Amino acid sequence: MNATAFLDVRDVSVVFGGLKAVNGPSFQVEQGRIHALIGPNGAGKSTTFNCISRFYTPTSGSVSFEGRELTRVSPHRMASLGIARTFQNLELFAELSVLENVLLGTHARGANTLGRLLRRPDRETEDFALHLLERVGLAGERHQPARDLDFGRQKLLELARALAIRPKLLLLDEPAAGLRNREIESLDRLLKELVARDGITVLLVEHVMQLVMSISDRITVMAFGEKIAEGTPAEIGSNARVIEAYLGK
Ligand code: ADP
Ligand code: MG
Repeated sequence: MNATAFLDVRDVSVVFGGLKAVNGPSFQVEQGRIHALIGPNGAGKSTTFNCISRFYTPTSGSVSFEGRELTRVSPHRMASLGIARTFQNLELFAELSVLENVLLGTHARGANTLGRLLRRPDRETEDFALHLLERVGLAGERHQPARDLDFGRQKLLELARALAIRPKLLLLDEPAAGLRNREIESLDRLLKELVARDGITVLLVEHVMQLVMSISDRITVMAFGEKIAEGTPAEIGSNARVIEAYLGK
């Protein structure tokens, strides 16, 4: 194992009221890989994910990124460390245009004020935002209000906005939820390309097994707040404990 893992999640637990939603899972994500967190509903995936993204602070345990303890980093500084996330439920500015949503995404890492980004973004920032829209296939819709996009395209827009901070680590909570097959196939290609071409590392929570099995280098499986298995897609696909957890035995 590396002395310093890229992302190191250790013995994380989260208690809500009396309920232990997450009970001590540990796993490491290697740089330049796609790592999936899967498991049945209520397993604690989103809560674990939210501890990594600093939306929650764990009750105990640690999360470190490139050797830095994230549980002590304030949530708004995550982007400046190179960590971006998307939400299970969309968090877009519905009335703003597709392009404006991505421009605002650059704010977390850039020197431009919000007002300037909307009124008079510099050329480089605007070109970069357009480039991201091309990558996700939304350049043609750049002037439409975000609310006019269908659900699948809004999810792509959210992804483009997350990419606007030029992340090293991209955290995705159920990126394929609600997408059609064709959209899942493009997401599959796009995520592989972000890793291969841009060197981004991806950690995703996902239920769509077709996507998980196709893109993941490594999979961590949770059930009842704990890690029950970890391995390659082939190992996980034939793991008896995993199959049992999904069948609810
Ligand atoms: P998953 O994403 O794997 O479906 P979650 O992390 O959302 O699971 O939830 C794990 C457990 O914690 C569930 O029992 C859920 O009901 C509970 N839980 C999640 N969020 C909260 C919260 N904010 N307050 C109280 N309980 C919660
Ligand atoms: Mg969830």
